[in-house]
Amino acid sequence: MSPHPYRLTHPAIGVFGGTFDPIHFGHLRLAEEMAEALGLARVRFIPAGQPPHRGAPRTAAPHRLEMVRRAIAGNPLFSVDAREVESPRPSYTVDTLAALRAELGFEQPLWLLLGADAFLGLPTWHEWRQLFVLAHIAVAARPGAQLLQSDAMPEILKNEVSQRQLTDGPVSGPAGSVLLRQMTPLAISATAIRETLARHRSARYLLPDAVLDYIDEHQLYRHNP
Ligand code: ATP
Repeated sequence: MSPHPYRLTHPAIGVFGGTFDPIHFGHLRLAEEMAEALGLARVRFIPAGQPPHRGAPRTAAPHRLEMVRRAIAGNPLFSVDAREVESPRPSYTVDTLAALRAELGFEQPLWLLLGADAFLGLPTWHEWRQLFVLAHIAVAARPGAQLLQSDAMPEILKNEVSQRQLTDGPVSGPAGSVLLRQMTPLAISATAIRETLARHRSARYLLPDAVLDYIDEHQLYRHNP
């Protein structure tokens, strides 16, 4: 008999939001490494429609959605979820997680995947404390980043995390744990890719060829905003 019958009946699902403008290998590696570390049965990529906490994305939502589709094609663990780009309202992560929770049930383990920069900004997100109630939170830290001790970490976030169970792998409950994990450092950002493309320089090997082909076909990012 399996030592983790709970996990067999409720394999954990990862939820990975972002503007993905465009999606790149930093995003894909984060999802891949977290899926492996946490034994995730699936990672749902959820491109943001209108992110409430930052400026409008450079590229229209249907393009960002299609780039994610092309980037993840061929990986059976990855899927794309269009709910935020199809919503006419600003996308709050707390609402997306609540909707997923309602669909998948209260016992379903959910892991919200975040890069360290996004995690440090968490206290500015709408009803951010509720995120810890709705899901586990996995943070991809940069090497050497002592996230918990870091001066960069706001005190209210430190307090919230200190009340949570810290883990370094799969857990058995549906929500409430925190994992801080180093990932292969990839200093790739969508901002730098957009700037590179606007200067008509090569962005090859920073993002999948299939995404670059799409960018070429649709002449995206040719000019600075
Ligand atoms: P931009 O440069 O436009 O701000 P970005 O490259 O940071 O974009 P987002 O779509 O804003 O990408 O990020 C989605 C998520 O992926 C966030 O949680 C972010 O922290 C994480 N992320 C982005 N790039 C990396 C990277 N190179 N390594 C690890 N995590 C990353």
